[in-house]
Amino acid sequence: MERINHWIGGTLVPGESGRRGPVFDPATGEQTHEVDLASAEEVDAAVAAAAEAFPAWRATSLSKRAEILFAIRELLEQRKPDLARIVTSQHGKVVSDAAGEVQRGIENVEYATGIPNLLKGGFSEQVSTGVDVYSIRQPLGVVAGITPFNFPAMVPMWMFANAIACGNTFVLKPSEKDPSASLFIAELLQEAGLPDGVFNVIHGDKPAVDRILEHPEIRAVSFVGSTPIAKHIYATGTANGKRVQALGGAKNHMVVLPDADLDMAADAAVSAGYGSAGERCMAVSVVVAVGGVGDALVEKIQERLPKVKVGAGTDPESEMGPLVTRAHRDKVAGYLDSGAAQGATVVRDGREDPVSERDGFYLGVSLLDHVTEDMDCYRDEIFGPVLGVVRAETYDDAVRLVNENPYGNGVAIFTRDGGVARRFQFEVEAGMVGVNVPIPVPVAYYSFGGWKSSLFGDSHMYGPEGVSFYTRGKVVTSRWPDPATSSVDLGFPRTR
Ligand code: NAD
Repeated sequence: MERINHWIGGTLVPGESGRRGPVFDPATGEQTHEVDLASAEEVDAAVAAAAEAFPAWRATSLSKRAEILFAIRELLEQRKPDLARIVTSQHGKVVSDAAGEVQRGIENVEYATGIPNLLKGGFSEQVSTGVDVYSIRQPLGVVAGITPFNFPAMVPMWMFANAIACGNTFVLKPSEKDPSASLFIAELLQEAGLPDGVFNVIHGDKPAVDRILEHPEIRAVSFVGSTPIAKHIYATGTANGKRVQALGGAKNHMVVLPDADLDMAADAAVSAGYGSAGERCMAVSVVVAVGGVGDALVEKIQERLPKVKVGAGTDPESEMGPLVTRAHRDKVAGYLDSGAAQGATVVRDGREDPVSERDGFYLGVSLLDHVTEDMDCYRDEIFGPVLGVVRAETYDDAVRLVNENPYGNGVAIFTRDGGVARRFQFEVEAGMVGVNVPIPVPVAYYSFGGWKSSLFGDSHMYGPEGVSFYTRGKVVTSRWPDPATSSVDLGFPRTR
């Protein structure tokens, strides 16, 4: 069985902890690799490599860093099809979707190529006689990223592009379920001229993460994953004095008002509900049908479902692939049973789709109607191809539903009324809002992040907030004295 090793100081390092985890091809259900699971000592080795690389990297000129980022961007662009195939082989998503994820990741590298501009500080001349003040932003040191299975290429790029552009060195702990994309990226970074040790990959599970959270040399931790783990990462990381941004799970609502274009809304619900088999933190999980629009909308969604082609991610005909593991597939399917038992209408049970009989981790597209707030399928993040429809009498009921939900990642409204859309944007409690756009993932020059239980910490990810997160400010007050004006003065520094 092929093994997947760590990447430390610019070279593959076989794990010596004696612990390994299985990696599957979700399309066949077969185990394809074993991934090394790091011990605390192996995490320490990766951090030591990053710490050793830091002084030279932070001293590297901004122009040189930008040049390397441009080279990284070119290589990622050239090798996009290979990286997408690796993602598909371990995650299961269809290759076109994997290429889309890589593309959105590359956009973060493109943003980071602007680092000479992004790190410009302020300057104030003559704040007092002969005194000038200027502000600079400096890197933190060694920073770490801990990433989820569902975007094994894009989410690491959300983090490391800005982190290294700002002059930090990076230790990535990718998901142990699909770890190969991170190694492919590591090799490309080296080929692009990134000095060894600036980017390291350590594979592992809880012991590796726990060591990252307590390692004194790691200054900041970026995390993306489920809410219970995000909470733990935030609490432990900050208790250990680190800067932490921890993005958690989601339950994204798509509110459809009676004046909406129902065909457009149904297309959007199917695309955003089942794309990537629902394993996206910005997937639409609940459609909120307002004011009697429910029956017509459910009918339109239902008629689209038999046309969704489910199959192996490598098959160019497939629009939706399998789920990531058998256990996850079974858990997702369980919501069809609990939903039915708790009173929802099963409009379509994906287990009856012949694709579910295959050896891989397949579940056909599934639809639950008449979902209510007390049901498990509403309360939990399902993270699979099970879309629920909730009926709301009024716009206010729909907003109350969204705002009372503990998650607050993405939300969308479908309407033709600009005034209502604007009111919705004003009062809805979520970090990312779509107006007739079902998956409002911000472009790389804005920042990504939810509210409430979808994010722990003060900083959203990537874009301007990413640059701010990976740097700390310093303000310099300077005087080049004229010796003739020098005297002792015990008063507080004056500006006038
Ligand atoms: P997960 O929380 O199980 O794992 C995320 C990372 O944490 C992995 O690297 C994993 O190895 C590590 N981890 C898992 N259990 C741990 C433990 N007990 N202690 C320490 N570390 C642990 O998440 P996942 O299943 O890989 O990803 C899916 C989740 O990620 C969903 O909840 C999804 O909504 C969320 N997600 C959120 C966003 C966002 O931007 N908010 C983006 C993508 C995914």
